[in-house]
Amino acid sequence: MKPVVALVGRPNVGKSTLFNRITKSRQALVDDMPGVTRDRQYADTQWEDKAFTLVDTGGFLSVDDDYFAAQIKAQLLRAVEQADVLVFILDGRTGLSPYDRDLADLLRRTEKPVFYLINKVESLYSQENELGEFYSLGVDRLYKISAEHGLGVGDFLSDLVAMLP
Ligand code: GDP
Ligand code: MG
Repeated sequence: MKPVVALVGRPNVGKSTLFNRITKSRQALVDDMPGVTRDRQYADTQWEDKAFTLVDTGGFLSVDDDYFAAQIKAQLLRAVEQADVLVFILDGRTGLSPYDRDLADLLRRTEKPVFYLINKVESLYSQENELGEFYSLGVDRLYKISAEHGLGVGDFLSDLVAMLP
């Protein structure tokens, strides 16, 4: 069994975009309904000769649902159970949301390794001036990436695979 790495985070932070970039698949399908992406959820991939299974969570979540917040949490907890490594994605454009704080609290309780990524960071300006609030989460290392443009993704993947068996 390959180690399982799960991408988690609230909708629209860029999980599927990062999944597609890492797995080089272009198979994500965007549903008619806003906020719902019918994506491929699992793919075997590798980086620097280390193989792992990447999981994209959240593909079937409806933002119209009353149980939205509960669903996001349930999904994260399932990922925490099933994965060996968690990758928590935040949105550098919208900033921290209450959902992010809730999910970060849940992630703090796991013994499993967690990587924290701020996505959609495409300019030096935002890197230096707008990301301070993310440090209030109290995590050691925040990776600044752009899943869409590939910035910072290689650095993150190198640290990720260094942690895999
Ligand atoms: P998910 O709901 O977490 O899977 O998020 P998606 O991957 O579907 O992306 C949500 C939206 O954010 C889409 O409109 C993407 O094009 C956009 N997006 C994803 N990554 C980036 C990025 O690195 N930069 C910018 N500017 N937009 C991004
Ligand atoms: Mg998605």
